[in-house]
Amino acid sequence: MPSQFRKGSGSLSIVNASTHNLKNVSVVIPTGVLVALTGVSGSGKSSLVEEVCEQNPNKVILVDQSAVGANQRGCIATYTGTFDLIRKLFAQENSVSASLFSYNSTGACDECKGLGHMDIDMNFLGDIKIKCPKCDGKRYMSEVLKYLYNGKSIDQVLESTVEEALTFFSQKEIKDKLGMLAEVGLDYIELGQSLDTLSGGESQRLKLASRLQSKGEFYILDEPTSGLHFADIEKLLNLLNRLVDNGNTVLVVEHNLKVISSSDWVIDLGLEGGDKGGELIAQGTPNDILGCERSYTAKYLKGAIKGE
Ligand SMILES: [Zn+2]
Repeated sequence: MPSQFRKGSGSLSIVNASTHNLKNVSVVIPTGVLVALTGVSGSGKSSLVEEVCEQNPNKVILVDQSAVGANQRGCIATYTGTFDLIRKLFAQENSVSASLFSYNSTGACDECKGLGHMDIDMNFLGDIKIKCPKCDGKRYMSEVLKYLYNGKSIDQVLESTVEEALTFFSQKEIKDKLGMLAEVGLDYIELGQSLDTLSGGESQRLKLASRLQSKGEFYILDEPTSGLHFADIEKLLNLLNRLVDNGNTVLVVEHNLKVISSSDWVIDLGLEGGDKGGELIAQGTPNDILGCERSYTAKYLKGAIKGE
C-alpha cells in the first residue's frame, strides 16, 4: 500500500441515489485521483455507476468492455490509424497506388471480398466460417502480395504483432500509435486482428490506449482487471496511475485487492447483496477503510496486507 495518497483536486457529488437496491446514497467523489468502488457482488456498485452517469451527464466517460466496433472489416491497424500510414509506405516503395494495399478496396481478394473467410449457410446448423480458398485467408489478391516493404508483404505486416511492428517500422508516427497499445499491455495482438474478435478486456484496454493523452476527464472502468494475469494487473495499474497523473479522474469498480489498496480513495458499498445491500459502508483512503469494522473489503484488505 502506498504511504502517500493523492489528494482530490475537486469533487463530483451524487445525491440520494436510489436506483435498484441503493438506499438514498449520497456521496462526494474526489476528482483527480484513483477511486475504487468496492463491495460484495450485488451490493449496488453497478447501480451507483448508473447514478454517477445519470447525475453528471457529459462529465463522465464510461470505458466499458463492449466491442470497439462490430464491423468485421475493422482491425487493430485501422483503429489505431496506422494502416493509412503503412499503405502509403508500401505505395511509395513500389510506385503503385496505396488503395492496392487496402483489403477493403482495389487490393481485395475477389472471392471473399477482402474478408479472408466465407460464410457458408449450413441450413439448420446455421452459418459456418471457412478460410477463403482463393487467398488462403490473406484477404488480398495474389498480385498485391508481390509488393514488398523492407522484405515483407502487406499480409505479413498484418500478421505481425504490435511488438514486432514496433521494431519493423522506424517512422515516429507509427511507433507512437503502436506504442500506446504496448503500454496498455496489447503488444501481443496482431495488426490485422479483427476488432470483433477481441475479448472484453482487450476492447476496454484498446479504448484506454486512445485516451492516454487526455486531461481533465472522469473515466469509469468496470472490473478492468478481470481476466488479467498478475504482471498485466501491474501494467494496468501503471496505466491508471498515468491517467491520473495526467490530470484525469479514474473510478474503477473493482474486486482486486492490489488495485483497491493502490487507490487514493475507496467507496465501499454493502453490507450484503440485494435487499441487504445498497448502503454506503465506508469511504476514505485505503487506510481509513481498514479501520471500518463492518466492511468486508476491510477484512479482505487486512488479510492481503498480512499475506504480503
Ligand atoms: Zn479471399
